[in-house]
Amino acid sequence: MPSSWTICGVQVGKGESKEALLSVAKLPTYTPIEVPVFIFRGKKTGPTLLCTAGLHGDELNGIEILRRSLSNNLFKPEYGNILVVPLVNVYGFLQNSRGMPDGKDINRSFPGSKRGSLAKMLAYDLMSEVVPHADMVIDFHTGGAARDNYPHVRCDMNYEPNMTLARAFEPEIILHSPLINRSFRRTVQLLDKPVMVVEIGESLRFDEPGIDQGVHLLARLLSNLGIQETNLDSITDSTRIFGGSKWVRSTASGLFQSKFNPGDEVQKRQVLGLVTDPYGRFKKSIRSTGEGILVGLNRNPIVSRGDALVHIAVDER
Ligand SMILES: [Zn+2]
Repeated sequence: MPSSWTICGVQVGKGESKEALLSVAKLPTYTPIEVPVFIFRGKKTGPTLLCTAGLHGDELNGIEILRRSLSNNLFKPEYGNILVVPLVNVYGFLQNSRGMPDGKDINRSFPGSKRGSLAKMLAYDLMSEVVPHADMVIDFHTGGAARDNYPHVRCDMNYEPNMTLARAFEPEIILHSPLINRSFRRTVQLLDKPVMVVEIGESLRFDEPGIDQGVHLLARLLSNLGIQETNLDSITDSTRIFGGSKWVRSTASGLFQSKFNPGDEVQKRQVLGLVTDPYGRFKKSIRSTGEGILVGLNRNPIVSRGDALVHIAVDER
């Protein structure tokens, strides 16, 4: 790799920090829209970590983790480099929505194309301008559709480099998650680069403990990767590893009340909550289908039969 990088026309040499802009398409108002890419290069050779958030425009916790890290000047690589894209889907962000203005999910549009939908063009620009410089990727998400995720890492455990990366983040929980077609995660992994998704909280809400922990763990990750040192101590006693997950679905329509919170341990057949009608006529217990940790909870009480209520990490290793 040459010692000087060019990202979106911006040249960045070793030891330099610069900002580049991905510009994909203007708004219908002719307002230019740009996606800032923050580039931090160390003086000495080492790995390059790419940090992305806001692929889903309404998932704010990762955006805030990267914003705080930028604002507090936490990115100072000594060995290797750090690339930061705090808000990928700026179009969805403007509309408080997960997808693009046409409803397309950019995280199902990779690797993208030069002349396709807006989602595909944005995916293409990210893959062609930014990802080639990265050796590994951390991508921040939250639960979607009123689902509140307990902070955890998701990756394809069958690809060993993912586990090395995930362990270096020192999370409380790592969950095996199969690759989804056309997702950013799958596309990066197919390039033989380790990639993990960090899930924290729910969309359109700040999860302060989760954000605080995320900033801390990101600094620990950079230190464990040998990119830069940190004076922050480890905050994780041990990392628990789960080989899969199960959704508990509602067996009735009505109002769901959970007896548990994200992060709680649950047993198989345990009553997780109740579904009632709005009039006091009936109550139905919802029982757990697995034993493990509650990693996702539906926070919208109005449910139909079959709706996903509780996500449980199972098959602990
Ligand atoms: Zn997401």
